[in-house]
Amino acid sequence: MKKLLGVDLGGATIKIGLFESDLKKIAEKKIATEAHKGSNHVLHLMASGIQSLLEENDLSNHDILSMGMGIPGLLDREKGISIYSPNFTNWKNVPIGLWFENKLQIPVIIDNDVRMNLYGEWKQGAGIQKQNIVLFTLGANLGASVLINGAMYYGCTENAGDIGHMHLYPTGRPCYCGSSGCLGRYVSATGMIQTVQEKLSQKRSSILKEWSKNDMRNMTAKMISEAFDADDAVAKETLQETGVYLGYGLVNIIHLYNPEMIIIGGGVAEAGERLLHSARKIVEKNALDLPQKNCTITLGKLGDSAGIAGAALYGYENTLKK
Ligand SMILES: [Zn+2]
Repeated sequence: MKKLLGVDLGGATIKIGLFESDLKKIAEKKIATEAHKGSNHVLHLMASGIQSLLEENDLSNHDILSMGMGIPGLLDREKGISIYSPNFTNWKNVPIGLWFENKLQIPVIIDNDVRMNLYGEWKQGAGIQKQNIVLFTLGANLGASVLINGAMYYGCTENAGDIGHMHLYPTGRPCYCGSSGCLGRYVSATGMIQTVQEKLSQKRSSILKEWSKNDMRNMTAKMISEAFDADDAVAKETLQETGVYLGYGLVNIIHLYNPEMIIIGGGVAEAGERLLHSARKIVEKNALDLPQKNCTITLGKLGDSAGIAGAALYGYENTLKK
């Protein structure tokens, strides 16, 4: 049987998954994206990662049926073009689909990375058999994607679910979108690190100063969770406050989409209940009773494999439709 490939292109890491046609994972590979080196460099990195994953499993491109790719930012899905991607240098109108079709001689389907995460969790993870799901990805930034009545919701310019830019404050932290006070500036790894930084600038003592060697560039969301477990007051306040912001985001989403499930995925979701505890309290207090009681808020089941699994399956299903 031929195999499937799924690729999740992240700002920091490229994940490549090799799957059986029933989506059983055979192997996966993670490589640093080196996004600052430009599109040509990143394309070649992905290609050599795919090549070595195939070789390690005694396979060649002839053994592959299709490849799905989750790409961040704005896309022309029909033409397989990544029009613009935040956090990538020299990245404009990159013909990523065609480039890989020519290179590998297999059909390539591209879609947004957050949608591919939702597709994976819907078909294989926490959201099996649900029809109305919103998935949040908490990483360096905050992303989301929406499934309505069993169909992915795109919106007229495919920006549906850009929850990271939902307004929390009329004024607030400046956002790269040009506005300020956006939810993603608070509920994300970047946001949490800034919250810690603001607290430390008030001369608070924290183990995070020592762990980060007094340099914020060394700080990670994982470190904040570890400091929470070490009973560090700054870390505890940061996760509690971030949870409150997340909670208000969830309240708005429950009222907007009336989902039966909200899945929290992405690296920051590893904070789990440290973050979700205060978020749930805000939902209980502020969301309407009926939609709230019928909405399960849960962590993703597939962890950081959701994107590659979703991309592989989505690529396969859409190749069959072609
Ligand atoms: Zn914004």
